[in-house]
Amino acid sequence: MQLYNSLSQRIEDFAVVNNTVRIYTCGVTPYDTTHLGHAFTYAVTDVLVRYLEYLGHNIEYVQNVTDIDDDILRKAGETGENWMELGNRWTTHFIKDMQHMNIRPPDHYPRATDVIPEIVTMVQQLIDGGVAYENNGNVYYSVEAWPEFGNLSHLDHDAMLPIANERGNKPDDTNKKDPLDFVLWQAKVGDEPAWESPWGMGRPGWHIECSTMSTMLLGETLDIHVGGGDLQFPHHECEIAQVEPLTGKPFVRVWMHVAMVEHEGEKMSKSLGNLIMMNELLEQVPIDVARIYLAWHHYREAWEYDEVEFKKATQLTEKLHQALTVKSAKSDVFDPTLHIRGFNDAMQNDLDTPAALKALGQFADEILVAAEDGQNVSQAQQELCRCGRVFGMDFGKDNAYPEVVEGWEKHLQRFEPVA
Ligand SMILES: [Zn+2]
Repeated sequence: MQLYNSLSQRIEDFAVVNNTVRIYTCGVTPYDTTHLGHAFTYAVTDVLVRYLEYLGHNIEYVQNVTDIDDDILRKAGETGENWMELGNRWTTHFIKDMQHMNIRPPDHYPRATDVIPEIVTMVQQLIDGGVAYENNGNVYYSVEAWPEFGNLSHLDHDAMLPIANERGNKPDDTNKKDPLDFVLWQAKVGDEPAWESPWGMGRPGWHIECSTMSTMLLGETLDIHVGGGDLQFPHHECEIAQVEPLTGKPFVRVWMHVAMVEHEGEKMSKSLGNLIMMNELLEQVPIDVARIYLAWHHYREAWEYDEVEFKKATQLTEKLHQALTVKSAKSDVFDPTLHIRGFNDAMQNDLDTPAALKALGQFADEILVAAEDGQNVSQAQQELCRCGRVFGMDFGKDNAYPEVVEGWEKHLQRFEPVA
């Protein structure tokens, strides 16, 4: 299989080692609803995971919950709700959306507050390793101490700084040596939630949470790290800088960044208020159509939300349903090999889902023609069904797979409202 790697900026051969692929995707910060931009990232990861499973590989998939973060505390402060209850409530919403979308649950679904001691250990190791420093109860990462900082975003210091500032960096923090240094541990302010540490009461920075959870659960080198394109810098740049000085190994083999979804000519974002919510989409179309609609966009190309395309997705869905339910005759067997190859060629070409869907459309056409001609298409139908399941299709039942519902329910139990 070939995948585009944001680090090398090239399409590379992706070799599976020991038949296992360890995947990490940055999860949500639960303080608001899931919009189509988020859904696209998780749907892309889902197709990747399901396709690797289709090929017979074992998957170890981790997605996190950033349950302690500036945004959550700000929102909780605005509404007066307890920060943990707010986080649990929105995580529950997110899980319901994922179930509704028939997205395979991650094998591990850790939240940052589950791993505070491990985060503290990692921050201490970074100080000991000479790439971090403490000042007034805060710990910062010293970007000057890690010359590779910028390799993932392909930006130099002056280009990184304004982007970091737009995305939560505090350049004027007088405790820092360099305005680009980022926080690993922040000292308690006011009545914010806080945990004990060698530097006093405080809470972790956002970036260190992901580095800790990913390496804890998947080891020192991940096979594939997925995330929205807006996380490439600074978040993923920081994740690498926090891990590689400690392990001396590459943190991630392939970095996959999912393009943004646009609406009304701009990136869909909370601050612009141009959001299409996931549950709104699913009210308009069945799961199969929603999933085909999303997969019709290549993950590396930004696209614009357009309801007109629902029609195209509906037509393909109906054709696939027809091909799967057409009555098969008993005479010569229709050979699906060529069509399966077409599907695989597209998927192996940097997860070219639009081309794969086109191949499935042709596959369905041929099944319908063959059945009309009196051929036996039952094997072809089974293969088409297997391909469709890679996109999370349930073929008209409009229910998520039982294992999807059960898997998420297991995670959901840990996010019950605080009594
Ligand atoms: Zn992350």
